[in-house]
Amino acid sequence: MKNFQIFQCFNLPIQSQIRNLKSQINKPMSLAKKALEQGEGILRLTPTWVPRSFCVPGRRIKLHPDDYYCLGGERGGIDERWFSSTTPAENGPLTSKNEGLSHIALEDGDKTELFLLKDAIDEIGTEIIGSRLWDKYKSWPMYSKFFDNMGPLPHHIHPSDEFGKLTGQNGKPEAYYYPPQLNNHGGDFPYTFFGIAPGTTKEQIKECLMNFNKGDNKITNFSQAFRLEPGTGWDVPPGMLHAPGSLCTYEPQKASDIFAMYQSLVNEAIIPDELLWNATPKDRVGDFDLLVEMIDWELNVNPNLLETRFMAPIPVGNREEMNAAGYDDKWICYRSHDYSAKELTVFPGQTVTIKDSAAYGMIMMQGYGKMNNWDIETPALIRFGQLTHDEYFVTEKAAQAGVKITNHSKTDPIVMLKHFGPDNPDLKVWE
Ligand SMILES: [Zn+2]
Repeated sequence: MKNFQIFQCFNLPIQSQIRNLKSQINKPMSLAKKALEQGEGILRLTPTWVPRSFCVPGRRIKLHPDDYYCLGGERGGIDERWFSSTTPAENGPLTSKNEGLSHIALEDGDKTELFLLKDAIDEIGTEIIGSRLWDKYKSWPMYSKFFDNMGPLPHHIHPSDEFGKLTGQNGKPEAYYYPPQLNNHGGDFPYTFFGIAPGTTKEQIKECLMNFNKGDNKITNFSQAFRLEPGTGWDVPPGMLHAPGSLCTYEPQKASDIFAMYQSLVNEAIIPDELLWNATPKDRVGDFDLLVEMIDWELNVNPNLLETRFMAPIPVGNREEMNAAGYDDKWICYRSHDYSAKELTVFPGQTVTIKDSAAYGMIMMQGYGKMNNWDIETPALIRFGQLTHDEYFVTEKAAQAGVKITNHSKTDPIVMLKHFGPDNPDLKVWE
């Protein structure tokens, strides 16, 4: 292809040929390759802040206090930071260009060039996410985020692929982990409603849904709640009713934005009727049986939700051996085939080499030091638009070769969260 373009130039004066060649060099493909070369297979990403018009920020994600509403009142407060995202935010007509999409930062002399991770993966996906994922998905099919809301969310559902198809969307599983570093306070309601209490009938739930416009439809009367605990998490398969509590949450998830709100009043705020029908095709709005069918009933009334959906961290290997080598590594999200996540701790003053079989994105939670040639650190406060050295994407090749991490502190551990794509070959603890 390149040869063809150069051939086309033959009839042009030399100056235009040079201009054409220069413009080729500036295409995303070249930038992506330069960035891969510069980071030796590790791409530096910039912070991706996302506002939500219906949310009140919990102010735990290190954004400067003056910047939580910097996009203007209409856009709402910023209560999300997205990681390794090639998925645009669905934020209504006011959504800004590239909202929700991660950018790569390429240092070029004294300036920094920014371009989309999505463009880089579209251009050289195999080199970034590896052929195992590229051949199957032709994209990076997950992202992760911090979700930082002061109050609880309504009991809601993410339909499965089967029901997602009705509106041309993918289904969506998601997972939660509550990082201790971001949870010194638990917000207004640090509890989660989860599933449907055993013994509840479909008729009772259908009645709640039919009462959606009568004020409080009381659907959580038929649910059990659990206290949320920093340093643990929950697994939320499609079709599972859940009302997330107000801890600041790290959320690996499948790339999809499908949802429907089944609770009409939460935290004294009314949920608009259109959000109940948000995942229903237009010609079936009003079909309450369809809403009940979207609930995976057996999953929701399972009496062992704590045993089957709660996630306490699991060491990835022999803990004594890992600790003796200077680190600790745990699975924190491990019940889904669509993604997984780890929390890696490197002890003060230690240097370790960590190998993974799959590409991953990472966010620094604590400490500072080096990861291969990159500085890694954890800013205390970030201005909107400011660049950081706390977020990266590690290519499959670099992950497999092993990433060398040095902790430069004599007292503080390095802690990072790592999010992986589907079917991580290293994950053997299904269910
Ligand atoms: Zn959800």
